[in-house]
Amino acid sequence: MKIALIAHDKKKVDIVQFVEAYQPIFKDHELFATGTTGLRIQEATGLSVHRFQSGPLGGDQEIGAMIAKNEMDMVIFFRDPLTAQPHEPDIAALIRLCDVYSIPLATNMGTAEVLVRGLDRGDFHWRTIIHKQER
Ligand code: PGA
Repeated sequence: MKIALIAHDKKKVDIVQFVEAYQPIFKDHELFATGTTGLRIQEATGLSVHRFQSGPLGGDQEIGAMIAKNEMDMVIFFRDPLTAQPHEPDIAALIRLCDVYSIPLATNMGTAEVLVRGLDRGDFHWRTIIHKQER
């Protein structure tokens, strides 16, 4: 599965700890991330992460483009709901596209736990079926 990981600045420690905690699951998947989030995850875990631009510089839009092509299977987005972001429209667009394409999206750690455990259990096998149908 292709999984996008994004965290706003005050949530970066959280996402690194989250990926470390679930590394045995994440290691079997293809990871994508906005620039700084991806770098932190790579440094902490050694996992290979495809890094896009930083969020404010277009990284959310790059991930959105993959969603629009049905190429992203899950988005884990640790948003900071207490800090204004310069790229608020990009964030809203990314979340909107997840809803347009029914892409599993977690915007906080509580939901992310459920998604990752579901991933491990095979709950998202339907995404593989969709990819096969597209071929
Ligand atoms: P970053 O982007 O991972 O490059 O910091 C995420 C964001 O802040 O939107």
